Amino acid sequence: MKNGFEAFRITRQFIDALDAMGIDTPTEIQDKAIVPALAGQDVLGIAETGSGKTLAYLLPLAAKIKYAREGHPLAVVLAPSKELAVQIHRVWCSLAANTDMRAVCLYGGVGKKTQVAALEAGCEVVITTPGRLIDLYSFGHVFLRQVRTLVLDEADRMMEMGFMPQLRSILEIIPVKRQNLLFSATFPERMEHMAGEFLDFPVRVESAEHGKPVESVIQQWVPVPNFRTKLGFLRHVLDGGWERVMVFCRTRDAAERVSKYLERRRPGSVRVLHSNKGQHSRINALDAFREGEVQVLVTTDVSSRGIDIAGVSHVVNFEIPKTIEDYLHRIGRTARINTEGTAVSLANPAEAPEILAIAEALGADVVRTELPAAVEQAPDLPGERQEIARALDMMKRKADSTYKGAFHDKQKRPGGAKKRQSRSAKGGKSKGGKR
Ligand code: AMP
Repeated sequence: MKNGFEAFRITRQFIDALDAMGIDTPTEIQDKAIVPALAGQDVLGIAETGSGKTLAYLLPLAAKIKYAREGHPLAVVLAPSKELAVQIHRVWCSLAANTDMRAVCLYGGVGKKTQVAALEAGCEVVITTPGRLIDLYSFGHVFLRQVRTLVLDEADRMMEMGFMPQLRSILEIIPVKRQNLLFSATFPERMEHMAGEFLDFPVRVESAEHGKPVESVIQQWVPVPNFRTKLGFLRHVLDGGWERVMVFCRTRDAAERVSKYLERRRPGSVRVLHSNKGQHSRINALDAFREGEVQVLVTTDVSSRGIDIAGVSHVVNFEIPKTIEDYLHRIGRTARINTEGTAVSLANPAEAPEILAIAEALGADVVRTELPAAVEQAPDLPGERQEIARALDMMKRKADSTYKGAFHDKQKRPGGAKKRQSRSAKGGKSKGGKR
């Protein structure tokens, strides 16, 4: 059978590689981005992980370089996290498997020796986080004067994470005459300025699904009284055979608690991934989950963004995300291209209005489902009830400025001094906890 990518007139070695990857029909973003990118134009792609964006830029990149050269890197791919850089490198290795081209993957948090050795051995493509590239450049380990193509993947994340100064420094050290491909999951106004800075008359391409939950994700929410009952729910569904589950928490403290609980009840079934984990531990956790060695990956929004893992059967929002973007990102981890999946949001009484607001804003059908009868209602954690009451109070105050609040008045001690607030059920930081 003919591979749909043959229409792009790319050489057989790449078609064979795509066949080996089981990829035969271009996704929408690939359909729209590959032709202008092959023609040498700048491309602004609005597409998230799961849309096939990586191949949308790697394929034209590889098709243009074609074979290994003696010189220095011809292309730089910038990514906001080490995990994403590793993932892009993995796709590159599959795509370039039938060629002699080499890509080097660079990221911080680990020693430089291996990366420097890889650079010295020569490569055509550098896939890197911004900080490590500048670091290695400043010590003379990487030569960038032959770069002809610059890719910025998850440009919105890079901006959010404060990488702009580094990105600007990189622009200063690579040749002005080059092709730029910029991909971003969202396109807020600030991104327009960034696009103006990095791109020259770009062709703008967008995946139609952008901003909408993937149709094939079944979305449910379950009212759950408290943290411990949520743990009971998790254990119940894992015992019941949910296969590959990503569990999202708001903070890394909560992620730690959840993973420790699961490790105690179901030893060897879980890994945890958050921003406080060391580099190797994060990559190992991802690999173990990707390879199916563990059933569950517990994580936070920040550290798992952009991660592509095939075949996630269920996403559990153990805590409701703060933003619609985070919600979309989380549920997009399941039901990747051509597959189905379920996203279940566990909401305590303070979170119930939040998930309903997200559903309404998205126009999504998030179906209320009751807690299974087999899951026992566990007692609150110390201070949890007050925290929920406080959150509900805040919500009411926001909605109605004349609302006096039931909770805060009760908190006053007879002597008039405010009672010390108890530590949060989520590790003491209900808001702004580290992710
Ligand atoms: P990405 O959005 O680049 O992270 O890709 C998400 C997932 O889709 C990866 O696992 C890719 O291997 C896969 N993929 C990319 N392009 C296609 C395609 N045309 N058909 C099927 N799967 C694809």
